[in-house]
Amino acid sequence: MTALARAGWRTVTLEEFAQRMSTVGAQHAAPLHNPSREFLLTFDDGYASLADNAYPVLADLGFTATTFVITDYVGKTNAWDVRYTWNRLQHLRWPEIERWRGRGFEFASHGATHRRLTWLDDAAMVAELGSSRDVLTARLGADAGRAVAYPFGAVDARVVRHARSAGYELGFGGVKGGGTGALLRLSRVPVYFWDFGDVPLGLREDAIGAVGRVVAHAANRCAVGTSMMQRFGGWAVERFAVSNRVTAEPPIRKTAPLPESVADA
Ligand SMILES: [Zn+2]
Repeated sequence: MTALARAGWRTVTLEEFAQRMSTVGAQHAAPLHNPSREFLLTFDDGYASLADNAYPVLADLGFTATTFVITDYVGKTNAWDVRYTWNRLQHLRWPEIERWRGRGFEFASHGATHRRLTWLDDAAMVAELGSSRDVLTARLGADAGRAVAYPFGAVDARVVRHARSAGYELGFGGVKGGGTGALLRLSRVPVYFWDFGDVPLGLREDAIGAVGRVVAHAANRCAVGTSMMQRFGGWAVERFAVSNRVTAEPPIRKTAPLPESVADA
């Protein structure tokens, strides 16, 4: 982030991003061809480690960010993810969210329970998208209902239709977006710890950048494992939970694991 700031990059708010999109069109939503060096910085999942480690650094640099929170898990540990990572991680609490929102950071939806929307029937999808937005707008105001990041970056035409019906204006998926005019199917470029220099690999327009995006897409696909476990792993997880009772609880780790990718962390 320091390297980006020194290189002249600045972050935009969700509102600024939406204005840019309505002006220039979503075909330019991809961060490539971005001579103005503006970017929207997003985090998925809303782990508490963001407030410990990321937000203070960003605030010092004059950056802001949008965090997509799993509304049913605000203030709780990551039961939705622990069966995959086997680590118990703390999510942000509402007071922390409100405090950082007061400092210009933004919060939006990552669903109510981090379920893969493309696998849900219409009623369940409506519930995931709608209840999450209701909680956010009731707690934080109308602006918090503007955007959603689809868990696992999983989005199709049906998800887009329900997101629009629920009232979302912007929808963020994985590395691959939906093309022209797809404000509810925007792509994102992940940034990983191995990124270096003043332009992250995924933002480079050369061959190295292309490789970076392929790797990011592959990492995003690997996140399928989490939802496969969610879908089919109930029995095994129950067995694990039972056997785990006779041993120590796994420790709550303060730092998040490698993200599913920033596109769907
Ligand atoms: Zn996620």
